[in-house]
Amino acid sequence: MSSRPGKTAPRLLQDLLTYDPRHEERAGRNLLTDPPSFYDPDAPPTPAVPVRNCRHHFVTKDEQSILPQSGNQPNYETVYKIASYCMKCRWHLELMVDFRDDGFRTLPCPADTEFPLHHFIFQGEKGPSHDHFGDRKIPRDYRFRCSAPRCPVHLHVRLLPPRLKDEYITLLTDKILLKKRLDRAGVIEPRCQNEQVAKPVDGLLFLRTYLRDSLQPKQGKGRIPLLNRKFLKTFGEDCDALLTELGFVREEEDDTEGVRVTVWYLPKPPPPGNPLDPANKRTVLEDVRYELAALILNLPAAERGTPNNDYPGEQKSSLADIQRAFGCLNYARKPLDHSESSTPREEDHPYYAGLGAVGDLSDALILFAYNRQTDVDSVNNTYYFECLQAIAIGRNSNMLGEKVQILASQGQVNRRDVCKAYKYFGIQPEHSPHLTDDIIIGQFRSRLSDISSALQEETRNMLRIIGSSRQSERILHEASNAIETYSQALSWLDVEETTLDDFIATMFTFKVNDNPANREIASQALRIIAEERQSQRLLDFINTGSMEAAEMDVSEAYALLGVQDRSAALDLEVLQAQMQSYNISNPQNAAKYEQAYSLICKDQKENHKSTAVQEMGPPKKRHPLESWPVGCQNIGNTCYLNSVLQFLFTIKPLREVVLNFEQYMQERTPEAIERKRVGRSAVTAEKVQKAQEFALELRELFKLMITAPNDNVRPPTRLACLALLKDDITVERAKEGDLVSTLGHLNGAPVIGPMPKPEPEAPAGPNPAASVLADSVMGDDDFDKRTDTSSTVAMADPEEDKPFDEMAGLKDDQGFEIVDKPQPPSRPPPVPPRPQPTTQENTDLKIVEEVARQQDAAEILNNVFDLLSCAMKGEGMMDDGEQIDLIKKLFFSEVTSVRRTNGSVSHNTALQDHQLIWPGDRDRHLYAALDDEFGLQELDSGPSSEESEEVGANTQTTKFECFHKASPILIVNVRRIAFAEGRSKKIESHIGLDDTLYLDRYLEQTKSLSKEALLERREKQWELTRRLKSLESRKAELNKTNLQIGLPDAVNGAADYIERLGSIDSGLMEIGGGQNSDQADVSQGPNIPQELRESSRTIQKETEILDRKMKEIDDEISSLFADCKDHSYRLHSVFIHRGTAAGGHYWIFIHDFQNKIWRKYNDERVDEVEDLKDIFTQEEKYPATSTGIVYVREDLVNQLTEAVDRHPEQPQSQSSNGDMVMQDVVDITDAETQDAEGIPILNGVEKK
Ligand SMILES: [Zn+2]
Ligand SMILES: [Zn+2]
Repeated sequence: MSSRPGKTAPRLLQDLLTYDPRHEERAGRNLLTDPPSFYDPDAPPTPAVPVRNCRHHFVTKDEQSILPQSGNQPNYETVYKIASYCMKCRWHLELMVDFRDDGFRTLPCPADTEFPLHHFIFQGEKGPSHDHFGDRKIPRDYRFRCSAPRCPVHLHVRLLPPRLKDEYITLLTDKILLKKRLDRAGVIEPRCQNEQVAKPVDGLLFLRTYLRDSLQPKQGKGRIPLLNRKFLKTFGEDCDALLTELGFVREEEDDTEGVRVTVWYLPKPPPPGNPLDPANKRTVLEDVRYELAALILNLPAAERGTPNNDYPGEQKSSLADIQRAFGCLNYARKPLDHSESSTPREEDHPYYAGLGAVGDLSDALILFAYNRQTDVDSVNNTYYFECLQAIAIGRNSNMLGEKVQILASQGQVNRRDVCKAYKYFGIQPEHSPHLTDDIIIGQFRSRLSDISSALQEETRNMLRIIGSSRQSERILHEASNAIETYSQALSWLDVEETTLDDFIATMFTFKVNDNPANREIASQALRIIAEERQSQRLLDFINTGSMEAAEMDVSEAYALLGVQDRSAALDLEVLQAQMQSYNISNPQNAAKYEQAYSLICKDQKENHKSTAVQEMGPPKKRHPLESWPVGCQNIGNTCYLNSVLQFLFTIKPLREVVLNFEQYMQERTPEAIERKRVGRSAVTAEKVQKAQEFALELRELFKLMITAPNDNVRPPTRLACLALLKDDITVERAKEGDLVSTLGHLNGAPVIGPMPKPEPEAPAGPNPAASVLADSVMGDDDFDKRTDTSSTVAMADPEEDKPFDEMAGLKDDQGFEIVDKPQPPSRPPPVPPRPQPTTQENTDLKIVEEVARQQDAAEILNNVFDLLSCAMKGEGMMDDGEQIDLIKKLFFSEVTSVRRTNGSVSHNTALQDHQLIWPGDRDRHLYAALDDEFGLQELDSGPSSEESEEVGANTQTTKFECFHKASPILIVNVRRIAFAEGRSKKIESHIGLDDTLYLDRYLEQTKSLSKEALLERREKQWELTRRLKSLESRKAELNKTNLQIGLPDAVNGAADYIERLGSIDSGLMEIGGGQNSDQADVSQGPNIPQELRESSRTIQKETEILDRKMKEIDDEISSLFADCKDHSYRLHSVFIHRGTAAGGHYWIFIHDFQNKIWRKYNDERVDEVEDLKDIFTQEEKYPATSTGIVYVREDLVNQLTEAVDRHPEQPQSQSSNGDMVMQDVVDITDAETQDAEGIPILNGVEKK
């Protein structure tokens, strides 16, 4: 059905009573057929019907009608026709209500109780609305049909102008004309001289009677002599045109006396026919007779003349006939108030007309009208809802009010909401019809990235309103954040397929804690994930809110990986291979297999002392509370968070600032934060507030870590939320191309590259001294190189030679893909990303995405830095406005990258809060990995060197980096996750660490070496590195087969296979088969396996030689700088991860420089590291790997770090008796944490 609103029968009738074709233009619309314009509460009120319109008083023309009889139901043959005319304007109205159907629509409306009223939809008009001369007094012919699906009713509405032209009426009634006519009559017929002048009513009455006689001919009344005195003075000879037009015939004839006389013969109409027949002469005469009656009765009482036997009687109003034909004679009406008697209904509030209703409909019928209207014209549902809302309020109707609430709860919105929503997104509502959904969604996304999660719900709501008003599925989906599919659910919770159930529950909790309004949608996401994974555990969590049950039954785990005998000790390497082959053939269950694998590892460890899981360590040793750091309980797969918190705690100046945070709080007045820049972004008061909330939470935790009366504390969930959910506090997030925001960036703000608003003071053009805040993840124009090999360089200088605005444009284009996938907030496990691809498109983006999901301690650390900077007031300002504060001073280095193109050199300096290294595919020293980052890079002349396009594509650009100023605390993050064959994979290569790291070779200059001298050495190093690279690629070639095993193994395997063929063949021979000559050939060549083995050994050997050579070069490189020991840093801490790319466990080793010991902080346990091998060497199988390495400038280690700061409070209820304290505290500990289970305690001393 077309999207056109309709009118309930009472409404249509109401409009029929005021529709006046003569004044249609004045009304601005056809009141009958055009929908009323939307009511504008702000516009000045206008009458519903123009003043001039006739308020018709229709009376029935019985001869021409087929009237409904009361009590008769229409059937499939029924046609009603109500022919009527208006007593006032004398227009004729013909209504034909046609129930005849095509056999399918057999239940007319009121009979169909679901449809208590017809709901007429305009179908079209026959003929023009005015004639050639613009005259609107022409017949109009409209068709409507009822919108009810089973109702057969068609409605024809005809409006005809009066038959009697105005001039004829004047002719008959004008007193001056009548006087003249009398004078003229006296001339023609002297007998008339005594006559009185005819009264206006006379002509009307006479004509009416003539017409009666014409329609009902009687003997002897067929002709009128002209000289009839009455005729002569009333009609005379100047009404000939009128009479002729009506069918009177003027004849000259001889009278009975032979005198020539003039007579008028009455019209001779056809006999009465069927009212449904087309109009004919008879109809016209009937109409004229009716019009005359109206004219007579409308005369002032004194002029109506004396009633005779043909005097018009009272005319019967058509209203009841029409109502009966329309089926709305007795519809349910609203009870009347005293105040509102029978007010003229045309001035019902326009909202009634909007619904196609009238003011006296009962509530139920109002609702019916609303439903019909939204059903046939859903496009305007927001307006209809507005109408319904207003009527519900106006009527103070419970029933309608409830309905409105239900609809609202289902998402129905009204027009005002829609306007408000458009304005919310900065769109003028009147422009909205011209905007595509894409534009609106774009507005929404950019808005969303700017706001806190507390506002997100509101923003989504606004979009939803627009979506439902536009009936756009796309917009609605975007707005709903709707979660219908597994991948949507994962994405909503910021987890991925490989994320373990535990962490999914954690993210659920975070999201809900963060914004309780999210509970419903979060539950929905959780349920979809639970069902998709068929995870009973998650389902239990949904139902009970806890995950007490084991994630997977151990026996289930064994079964899943096809292990029959779970009591046997397993070779875990075999098991891992098994798991990986399962993963490959069944990637959607990878998470399950990995989970099963880790469960089995654990089980094996417990039962068979397997090497798989070693970090559990021996039973916990007790340490004096006063001198030992506390552990942090794992509040839900947050071990990476715990590592970060422990690390922060040991940074003494940071800890002290946090503990006294009130003194460092940023003021939140608009003036105070107006110029505040963190990560080059402006900061809103809202963000500052959130950041301060975090800082104060952190303060409470630190206090607790100092004063806790036991050996571990529980970080508050809120703290975790604030630290983990990055979007939460992201304010000035880059709009476009900001993939950068994953790690290392200063919290979502693109530090370099795409700037939403270029800073006016930003350096324009090449500027060697340009100091730009950046960090190591920025500007990875060589990203693609580092995804497959160890050749990585962290550069912080993507487009340093360009003005910012140009860069912004560039990045927009490049980053376009990313816009569709806004960076999700926190991502669980491992290692940092390396984003900003510039050359390859989708593949790289996917890789980046994948890597970005693998967030870890490094990202949280970065996030925390940003939060703290936002929360604290600055101590000053850098050139570019960036806030100087403790965080910058402690952790941010200035890194210069030097780019050389065809002899021209450019420098760019950026701030970085960490260095990012790539472990590569072999074990090597940290120096080697850092060398990659700082060393010489040959850059493709890709899009990043647009400035040189005239020079051509062969322009060689090189780049290297050095510390312009190294931060006192140097954080090195290790990327551990690579992406291959569609899955992420952890790289387990070992990064060799020394207790002391000399930074000399990465500096611009050292205490003893000038810039030039240092550069010379570095150039030597780069030459060696080039050789190293070629060896590496040779090794890669040797080890590459399609079997995904090393070539030596492959060749050996081939040898095995051929040998076995031989033995099978000989077996076949024995049983009389094996005549196959090919097989015989193979077995006859016993040397082939032999040769293959030989070859395998050769390859193996070459590989070994390569390894040795590479090691030699590594050593040579190291020796280049052997004497560079001016700038020493001490190893302070190492973040460790054990597990797969999908998940695992984190802990941190932290050096206590004061007590000269290392500790391992593993959630609630803090143990001394007894064997330093645990830190500096790596296990062979399933090694735990470093993901973050922190060095502290040697001369500052005691100033900057302090591992122990403890003043445990004594539990209040305890005795102050010093002797008892230990025992009391231990008891508390036992009760609270149960971590001393099984260890008998006597007087505070462990019983061995
Ligand atoms: Zn009228
Ligand atoms: Zn109907």
